[in-house]
Amino acid sequence: MATARELIDLESAHHSGVYSKQPIVLVRGQGARLWDAAGREYIDCVGGGGVANVGHANPLVIQAVTEQVRRLSICPNGFYNDQRANLLDKLTAIAPPDLNRAFLCNSGTEAVEAALKFARLGTSRRKVVATMRGFHGRTMGALSTTWRREYREPFAPLVPGVVFVPYNREESMEQAVDSETAAVILEVVQGEGGVIPGDGAYLCRVQELCRQRGALFIVDEVQTGFGRTGEMFASLHHGLRPDLMCLAKSIAGGLPMGAVLIGPRVGNLPKRAHGSTFGGNPLACAAALATIEYIETEDLPRRAVDLGARLMAGLRGIESDVIRSVRGLGLMVGVELKVRSSPYLAALAECGVLALTAGPTVMRFLPPLVISREDIDTVVESVAGVLERDRG
Ligand code: PLP
Repeated sequence: MATARELIDLESAHHSGVYSKQPIVLVRGQGARLWDAAGREYIDCVGGGGVANVGHANPLVIQAVTEQVRRLSICPNGFYNDQRANLLDKLTAIAPPDLNRAFLCNSGTEAVEAALKFARLGTSRRKVVATMRGFHGRTMGALSTTWRREYREPFAPLVPGVVFVPYNREESMEQAVDSETAAVILEVVQGEGGVIPGDGAYLCRVQELCRQRGALFIVDEVQTGFGRTGEMFASLHHGLRPDLMCLAKSIAGGLPMGAVLIGPRVGNLPKRAHGSTFGGNPLACAAALATIEYIETEDLPRRAVDLGARLMAGLRGIESDVIRSVRGLGLMVGVELKVRSSPYLAALAECGVLALTAGPTVMRFLPPLVISREDIDTVVESVAGVLERDRG
């Protein structure tokens, strides 16, 4: 087995260069723990960027994938399939009311891409209202609705007709949504933008505006879905009934998959309006069925509520001049600092805790929902230690 240094050099020699990386080679995971090439153990608060809700090497997912890969891995969408049929049935059963159709794809950006296309088809309009600090992916359509300039500007011209308004501000949304608006797209909790929970009254008002003005309401639950925030979907906290709901990340227990759920206001979608070779393949569908079963039988949304409250209370109890605020919903938690967060994340990794940034100053914690109370307490102690060390 090559050393960590050799593996880092090898990957660095050939990767595209589009990612900044921590110098850690992860080779194994189990539940909420990860191990590096030297055998060092970490508590995982990255959770694959919100992918690993059911934990690494989840036994139900392993069993489902192993059985399915032996049986059938790919089934073109021109045919029917047992796993796909069962997954579509399950997804629409657990979704907010009226989302009774779904388009299956392979990632979050593809789910957003499909939702934007379906919104144009369903309304014959072009304008899209998106929110400042929102993140919806990096393909050209989704990127057009993603806020950060450094992601968008090098690729101009993007899809025209996108207007950005401040998040959580009703008046701006009222001014922006008009008779030309095909859709409003937003996250219930902004993830990449800094872990900013949407206000319930605001989100309901946006939905109402969409209904009144003939626009479709697209909720991007790519990061908030599948128990992360303490409900199966974050929309359910506020009784939202989106017309299109985008899903991905944790949907299939770690296998690549995305979905857009579709409500009646979208209308009929013509044949050949969209498509995907791998979308809805039986392997990902089997993994997704096992993932949802595990979330339900282990009541992971409940765990997210309890452990999220414990994590936030612990982090709020840390006395530090550097912390500006601690916020989140369920086990989606952000600590905004008054300074850049990356040095603290590197120090946390040295203590055996891996976490993410969300913008330059926010530390983001997205642990697998199977994380233990003891590990949550260790995370809090480690954050306190790292911030304290800096003080001294
Ligand atoms: N939407 C949201 C809310 C996300 O957080 C992300 C990724 O972080 C995406 C869309 C894009 O997903 P993917 O990276 O799978 O394309």
